[in-house]
Amino acid sequence: MSTTANRPAGAPAGGPVEPTPDSRAPHRPLRLRDVHIDGGPLGRWQETNRAASIPLGIKQLEEAGNLHNLRLAAGEVTGDFRGPRFMDSDLYKQLEAVAWEAGREDAGELHDFLRRAGELLAKAQRADGYLNSYYQVVRPERQYAELEHSHEMYCAGHLVQAAVAAARVGGEPELLAVARRFADHLVEVFLRGGNPGIDGHPEIETALVELYRLTGERSYLDLSLHLVDERGKGHIAGSGMGQRYFQDHLPVREADTEVGHAVRALYLEAGIVDLYLETGDESLLASSVRRWEDMVATKTQLTGGVGSRHSHEAFGDRYELPPDRSYNETCAAIASVHWNWRLLLATGEGRYADLLERTLYNAFAASTSTDGTRFFYVNPLQRRHDHTEGDDPGRRHEWFSCACCPPNIMRLVSTVGHYVATTNDDGLSVHQYVPGTIRADLSAGEVALSVRTEYPWEGEVAFAVDTAPEGEWSLALRVPAWSPSVGVSVNSEPADATPDERGYVVVRRAWSPGDTVTITLDLTPRLVFPHQRIDAVRGCVAVERGPLVYCFEQADQAEGVDVEDLTLAPNAGIRAVPQADLAGVGRTVLLTMDAAAVSQPRNGFPYTPQPTDQAVTSRAVTATAVPYFQWDNRDGGAMRVWLPVSPQVTSGENS
Ligand SMILES: [Zn+2]
Repeated sequence: MSTTANRPAGAPAGGPVEPTPDSRAPHRPLRLRDVHIDGGPLGRWQETNRAASIPLGIKQLEEAGNLHNLRLAAGEVTGDFRGPRFMDSDLYKQLEAVAWEAGREDAGELHDFLRRAGELLAKAQRADGYLNSYYQVVRPERQYAELEHSHEMYCAGHLVQAAVAAARVGGEPELLAVARRFADHLVEVFLRGGNPGIDGHPEIETALVELYRLTGERSYLDLSLHLVDERGKGHIAGSGMGQRYFQDHLPVREADTEVGHAVRALYLEAGIVDLYLETGDESLLASSVRRWEDMVATKTQLTGGVGSRHSHEAFGDRYELPPDRSYNETCAAIASVHWNWRLLLATGEGRYADLLERTLYNAFAASTSTDGTRFFYVNPLQRRHDHTEGDDPGRRHEWFSCACCPPNIMRLVSTVGHYVATTNDDGLSVHQYVPGTIRADLSAGEVALSVRTEYPWEGEVAFAVDTAPEGEWSLALRVPAWSPSVGVSVNSEPADATPDERGYVVVRRAWSPGDTVTITLDLTPRLVFPHQRIDAVRGCVAVERGPLVYCFEQADQAEGVDVEDLTLAPNAGIRAVPQADLAGVGRTVLLTMDAAAVSQPRNGFPYTPQPTDQAVTSRAVTATAVPYFQWDNRDGGAMRVWLPVSPQVTSGENS
């Protein structure tokens, strides 16, 4: 077991984000094993991740050449470097996933992979601490000479995060030793050595703060702050991609909107909030919150997906949110989860847990097939019948030549329990609802809860107090912004369910084992309409239920109903139809509703002087929607989240 800066030696350690006791975080994460998810979609993702995705990833890293490249650097084999220059980072993300998974549940063979990888990395690492298989094998003369696209510090950041994970779960000291030698090398070159460079791909910033949290070594925090402070001073000018692509167009404290490569932008934000937490620099938090508010208001898809443009994998202009050609990279959704979690720790505000939930259950969850063996890199909100295989939006793939997303998915799924609850001076806050158990150390003593729920399929979440300290403490339960009403009962008696200003119902009392609290959220299916400036879906409507965005797949429509012709009345009645095990999908709740299928003759030129309403004929049909995260598990046909509004159709009943 490793010793950390903020926990006594021998204490079981935490998850991916562990602010120091002196940090500005009023909310503190629980330890990884303090949340056990037992069932529900998140529990099933964890099972599939462990049983199918992680073994697949380890196999792919061997086949794609990631391990081969490091063996080249270690002098163990001869041959050519394979893949893009950031191949090392895929291994590091995989190692991080394996480490968290080994910490979540004991697993000897997972520790073996960590140990073998640690040994290989130690052998590949240069004596001065530098480690990058591409620059050691292919272009040693260009080390740190092309930081705008070298990914050297980006790879180092993922190495550091993997090593932190391994240390926190009590594994492989070798991995941490390798990561620290590299971090020390970066400190010598970029903090003390006067090299003014910054990496073209942020990631090292958040990783260095976490390494500081683990080790107490101040120079890691100082280097992180230095790299953030140097951003926006034009160090990356002349790359050919433009400064906005790298978030190097303005100092971070001055930028007011997300621009450029989305994954870079949001990893940088995670680092910015980490730095606020550990330094108390309010200007960092204020700037990050300002950009968050702008991103949510103008640059976020209904699914929580971000980064509209295929070109440069980048944020678009405000309200540039096309459903069919949206990029919404899976890694950007993951980075958004990382950022929202740190903002939640910094402020306790439920709006960050709301966006985290929306992103987790939709933009992120859709990335992976039900069986855990195929992945989306790009997550659009529409796919047409005549999509081209290999082009986006296509179908999920087992792996990618640029394989940033799959191992990133695996590390988030392994740690998803980390995002469920926090403690503060007042008590315990529950941010995400999952069945299982939650254990935490409050200042007064230990608390343990059992949670029973069928969320997100059903809206009732029942907590039972198993262990409670003496005296009063608060249990805070998030009320998602999507729930129009909420009910709370304590020991079966109705209780005040008015959310506080953070968006939480807070029950404060002296708790005893056997006490129960139930929160009931309103899962009535609802229609959602876009802001009028979102040109691409103006005049359209979408359907949601609880935290889930729904989509219309061809596979669920009646014979003769083409999903590309469906329209929906703005007052359409929606019925929930639970499915115990829909073929290819598993447990789900389908939604059915009265709709209209329109048709318009093909006339040589798809524009007429007639308003479209007058040019189409329509017939009443029933439309069926499936949760977006479960799409593309069947026939590969057309899908759409947004349907045009059909004013001719009259309503049915909500249920
Ligand atoms: Zn990716």
